[in-house]
Amino acid sequence: MTAYRVGYVALIGRPNVGKSTLLNHILGQKISIISNKPQTTRISILGIHTTEKGQIIFIDNPGIHKPLHKLNKRMMNFVYSSLETADLICLLIDATQKTGHGDEFVLETLEKVKTPVFLLINKVDIVKKENILLLIDQYQKKRNFQEIIPISALKGINLDVLEKLILENLPEAEKLYSDDEVSDQSERFLLAEIIREKLLAHVEQELPWVTAVYIDAIEEREPGDEREKAWDEGEAEEESEEEGEAEGAGEEEAEAEEEEESEEPTSAGLTQRAREAGPEAEPETEPRKPKAPAPDEIPPGVGPRPRERRPVTYIKASVFVEKDNHRKIIIGRHGQLIKLIGIEARREIEEILETKIYLDLNVKVRERWRDSADVLDLIEGQKET
Ligand code: GDP
Ligand code: MG
Repeated sequence: MTAYRVGYVALIGRPNVGKSTLLNHILGQKISIISNKPQTTRISILGIHTTEKGQIIFIDNPGIHKPLHKLNKRMMNFVYSSLETADLICLLIDATQKTGHGDEFVLETLEKVKTPVFLLINKVDIVKKENILLLIDQYQKKRNFQEIIPISALKGINLDVLEKLILENLPEAEKLYSDDEVSDQSERFLLAEIIREKLLAHVEQELPWVTAVYIDAIEEREPGDEREKAWDEGEAEEESEEEGEAEGAGEEEAEAEEEEESEEPTSAGLTQRAREAGPEAEPETEPRKPKAPAPDEIPPGVGPRPRERRPVTYIKASVFVEKDNHRKIIIGRHGQLIKLIGIEARREIEEILETKIYLDLNVKVRERWRDSADVLDLIEGQKET
């Protein structure tokens, strides 16, 4: 029996070359579920393909779908390092298009990258064989590709060969994801859209144009997780901006605190469970300062821990606006509006994901965010699949 192969495969290529089509074909029609792996917040995982022989984790590169020459140095360095991180790079080109400036630039970028690169010549279902041979000849001169594979992402031509060759180039390892984890991208986009929709239903006409929603984190938490306790107690939390380079004034964030309207569980019960969870239930995110009684002050014997408690999905989202007065409008008097938006969004998300949700909405002011590479990148990365 051959060893199990697991690794990251970066898909790159200009828009419309067929990256999404390829992914969809390889992943099939499976409904994606949320991945709770922490690394999904750092690299964007487009899809996870698990077979008997191996697990291929397709990753996206922030910014790579934009014209590379327009990226600043910092972004480019990020692109290089993420390309180095991948075990294999698949560069897609469109066989129906003439090679141009953009292709040259992608190739130049790859010059600095030591990771093996496959060249996938896509859309071979609609081009003549001579053209494909010509492209192969052209590209062979430009770089020493690990493999050059003509494919049709749409028709599925040669995808079995591609899959086999990818696996051969991945390291031997244990599965990183369970069999039913497929992607987190589509959820992120969907969840952001739901929040945005609720937001737009409540705010002034002009605001939609300055509003973007980004899902910062999706995490599944076990019952009794310390962090969950903090939410149930509905405490206010002050969060420091992770990036020190944030743009000066107007950085405060508003918290949408969810009111626990459901029958179960009581806050005391949860605190008790959190206590039982022990020291390993360490919060990963910013520590939350409890306003409510510290665990030590909770009277013992508030009841046994119900065994049937389901895990909770914690969703942290940022709403970007350009001006502080926009932020104030969204938050509303005493935070009433953002709270309402949060509750409406949460109800719909709970229906879709069929799980209990904690929604952490943060309204952030980013002056001229539409010009801000970071923010644009976050948002575009979330949409690109
Ligand atoms: P992306 O921007 O790289 O993700 O490209 P898409 O996957 O969105 O594909 C862009 C267009 O090319 C779509 O209209 C696809 O249907 C089409 N396309 C993708 N792969 C193929 C292929 O193998 N053959 C043909 N004929 N069309 C394809
Ligand atoms: Mg696409």
